[in-house]
Amino acid sequence: MFDLKKILRPHILTLTPYASARDEYEGTEGIFLDANENPLGSITPEAYNRYPDPYQWALKKKLAAIRKVDVKQIFLGNGSDEAIDLLIRATCSPQSDEVILLPPTYGMYEVSASINDVRMVKVPLTPDFQIDLPNVLKAINAKSKLIFLCSPNNPTANLLKAEDIVIILQHFPGLVVVDEAYIDFAPDHTFVNKLNEFPNLVVMQTFSKAWGLAGLRLGMAFASEEIIRILNKLKSPYNINTLTQELVERSIATVEAKDQMVAQILQDKQLLKKELLQLPIVQHIYPSDANFLLVKVTDARAMYQHLIDDKIIVRDRSKVILCENCLRITVGTAAENHKLIQRMRTFKAPTEAL
Ligand SMILES: *Cc1c(COP(=O)(O)O)cnc(C)c1O
Repeated sequence: MFDLKKILRPHILTLTPYASARDEYEGTEGIFLDANENPLGSITPEAYNRYPDPYQWALKKKLAAIRKVDVKQIFLGNGSDEAIDLLIRATCSPQSDEVILLPPTYGMYEVSASINDVRMVKVPLTPDFQIDLPNVLKAINAKSKLIFLCSPNNPTANLLKAEDIVIILQHFPGLVVVDEAYIDFAPDHTFVNKLNEFPNLVVMQTFSKAWGLAGLRLGMAFASEEIIRILNKLKSPYNINTLTQELVERSIATVEAKDQMVAQILQDKQLLKKELLQLPIVQHIYPSDANFLLVKVTDARAMYQHLIDDKIIVRDRSKVILCENCLRITVGTAAENHKLIQRMRTFKAPTEAL
């Protein structure tokens, strides 16, 4: 049986969190002389002189309805990156406990583990970018506290097989983090509806991709109430600013606007893929369930430079394991995609140019 107490670092269990002024009195009406704020207002036209709600209840209520979870199963962070860091800090003692990573995948898991001086065990994905289940199961030991599964995965763009994720949820002793940053592009495949089935599941999502709010920095983690309570204990008290809370709370009602953009991007992705495949220098395009394509070309480094010379910036992933000669290309607007194709067409391999 999963027991969160056995997964947490001992001092986290007994930690007394910072009690903010707004923790001690939760009403919204009154004369607030408790937080050393400026009573006169702000230097800006709009007033931001009051500290934000530390637990973002108004926003979470709306989000809970959309994602069909309890408000207490939601954590909001300053980007998903905050949740990644808190999960590592909550569970892994430096130089002792282990995080399992499945490269090629999102770079922040490794960076965050490194910052925290936490050991990483890497079990590469299979050549078709799926979980190498036998080797993942072999890598699990008493020190395994976290495993990060990114689905759809970055930079490979594909969903991981749900059956494999379920097997890991059943066998992994620690927390299983399913990073669904791109799930709005493949919404039927979310694990959010499995929270009540698996007490060790943490699902991360973000407003940075499909919702078009990367600049606001707002990430979500969905998990059991028990896990969310720990994340809340560790986070900085006012981690989501007032502007972000208000703006997203107001906009979240317009899920349709997001869905429309997603439909547009998915349609443009198909067009882009078709046009890329007609280029002789494109060797392969991997299956994509996200808003980007992983494209294998004849010479990724040279192509990257050729595009840069025309101020078209893609991501060179050719140094990443299993991604030799691969570029990660985000689907742009129709006009941007068109310019990309035109520029790629004028590419001459360095040897041909001689
Ligand atoms: C973009 C991305 C995120 C989002 O991070 P934010 O900090 O919320 O912007 C998370 N995970 C993956 C795999 C991503 O590609």
